[in-house]
Formats: sequence, structure tokens, C-alpha cells
Amino acid sequence: MSGINDLSSDSAVYKTLLESTQAIPWKIDWSTMSFAYIGPQIEPLLGWSQESWVTAEDWATRIHPDDRDYVVNFCIAQSQAGVDHEADYRALTKDNGYVWIRDVVHVVRNDSGEVESLIGFMFDISERKKTEEKLIALQKELEALSFKDGLTGIANRRQFDVSLEREWAGARNGGLPLSLILIDVDFFKQYNDLYGHIQGDKCLIDIAQTLSLAAIGPRDVVARFGGEEFVLMLPETDAAGARKVAERCHRLIEKLAIPHSQSPHGQNVTVSIGVGTSVPRGDSSPTAFIQAVDRQLYAAKQNGRNRIEYFDERPAQ
Ligand code: GH3
Ligand code: MG
Ligand code: MG
Repeated sequence: MSGINDLSSDSAVYKTLLESTQAIPWKIDWSTMSFAYIGPQIEPLLGWSQESWVTAEDWATRIHPDDRDYVVNFCIAQSQAGVDHEADYRALTKDNGYVWIRDVVHVVRNDSGEVESLIGFMFDISERKKTEEKLIALQKELEALSFKDGLTGIANRRQFDVSLEREWAGARNGGLPLSLILIDVDFFKQYNDLYGHIQGDKCLIDIAQTLSLAAIGPRDVVARFGGEEFVLMLPETDAAGARKVAERCHRLIEKLAIPHSQSPHGQNVTVSIGVGTSVPRGDSSPTAFIQAVDRQLYAAKQNGRNRIEYFDERPAQ
């Protein structure tokens, strides 16, 4: 064969091509497990000289310890099976850093089908990995944001609904009590009218932060239920426990002493609280439970505000 498609005799051309690409070519003899070749590009990338790549062991020890076992075992298994493969890993640099590499490996066999050598290319994929890591971090941030109330920074209604659904099922399976505390700011429309919406926002932020201090259980959730209403969900908490937390909420808001000159209760911002406890059974729904607690909150309003009303029976189903 001759002409433009025939490079078989021109090894200098091959060499030039291989050594001028971004990808780093290499070859390992299978019988000796040693490098027959590695491109000179390896030195500027990782700092290890071309000559220092002697055995497959040199390659393995220059893989980040967290990736090493998996990558080495995977590559050996694939090569033994004669399967072309690729692996992403962090290659260690001479100056104690690392570079993300994608190693693409082709298994070469002799005429009788036995593995003769491995040839491959190492690609520097650091930039891609950085972008990937940034995307993952962003995704996590977005997910967290979608469960957070934008104004107060505490859990939002969505987070509350998801948590209640989960805890409700858990309580039903375990035959355990679950308590809810609904809190509504008294005369808040007046507060806004008197002090302005911005001050109203600040008031809600302060109340949210204060309520966060009242719930201390590891699975307790303090959420903004909507507008000037907040909710505390207390898993594995009986009526007596819920009463203590509700009283703590009431006391802490009292201690905040946010001025509200039109409030009949000491001219400070107060809250009304409804508390309920349930041991979920059968097909009872969390919605009915919330409604039952909401009725207690309504009763607290009816009975003069700045007070707590309780129930600890099974909600209507
Ligand atoms: P009650 O004592 O019966 O609870 O009376 P209230 O005035 O607190 O209740 P109402 O439901 O009539 O008013 C709630 C007010 O809360 C009206 C609304 O403008 C205000 N509000 C709801 N969300 C926000 C918010 O994010 N920021 C501010 N500043 N105000 C809010
Ligand atoms: Mg309200
Ligand atoms: Mg209100």
C-alpha cells in the first residue's frame, strides 16, 4: 500500500502525532507489567519524569489513595477479561497535588487471542470535574433553598409537609405520639399598619429565630406555615412534652418584647398557640390532625389571644 493513507512505515509521523496531542499515550506490556512507552506530555502535567514510569506499580502508587483500590482492581479485572475500558481518577502530582484523569484503555491481543499489551490515553479532565463539582454544589444549594422560607430562613411549608408526611408514617408504624404546635401572631395586621411592612418583616424574622430556639429535638421541625403563622412539629413527643415546648415558645416571645403599642397585652407583640398530640392509627390523615390543631389555635384567638389551647386526643378521621 502507498499514498496518503499509508503511514505504516513512517513511525516518526506517528510519534510526532502522539506526542503533540493533549492526550497522553502509553503502553504497558502485559507479561512484564511494565511501561513500554509513555508520552513526554506526562511530565508537564504531573511533574513525574517520563523515565520514572517503569512498572504498573508506579502508575498505581501515583493514584489518589481514595481512588486507588477501586481503579486498580477495576482495570486489572477488565484487562484480564480482555475488555476495553476507561476509568476516572485523581493522579497524584509530584508536588503533592492531584489532577483528574480519564484513562481510556484498549486491550491488545496476539494472534492466538491472549492479552499482549494495554495501550491507552490519559486525558486531563480537571476542568470538566471542576464544572461538575460546581454544578453538584449548585444543585445542593438550590435543593436546600427550595425547602427554606425566603424571608425568615427557617423551613418553609413544603419542608414541613414533607417532614410531617414522613414522621406521620413513622409514628403510625411505631405506635408513637406526634405533636404539633401552631402559632399565629396576634393583631399583626395592625402591627403592619402601625410600623410598616418592613418592620413587620423584621418582626417575623425575630419570631422565627426565637421559635427555632424552642425546639431542640433532633427531628423537630420549625417552619413558616404561611403569612404570620408558624408551626413546630415534634416527633415522639407526648402531650406533656408538647405543652412544655409550647410554654417555652410563649415565654421566649414574651421575652423578645417587641413593642406593639396597639396590643392590649402589655403593648408588646404576642402570639396565640394551638397544640395537639396524636398517635396516628389506621388511615388517619395528617391533614385532619392539622385541622384539629388549627381549631385549638382558633379557640386561643376566641378566648382572648396571647394564650395556649391544647388537645391530646385522636383527631377526627
Ligand atoms: P389575629 O390576631 O386574629 O391573628 O389578627 P391578625 O391581624 O394577626 O390576622 P390577619 O390574618 O387579619 O392578618 C395577618 C397579617 O399578616 C396580614 C398580612 O399583611 C400580614 N403578613 C402576612 N405575611 C407577611 C409578611 O411576610 N410580612 C409582613 N410584614 N406581613 C405579613
Ligand atoms: Mg393568621
Ligand atoms: Mg394573626
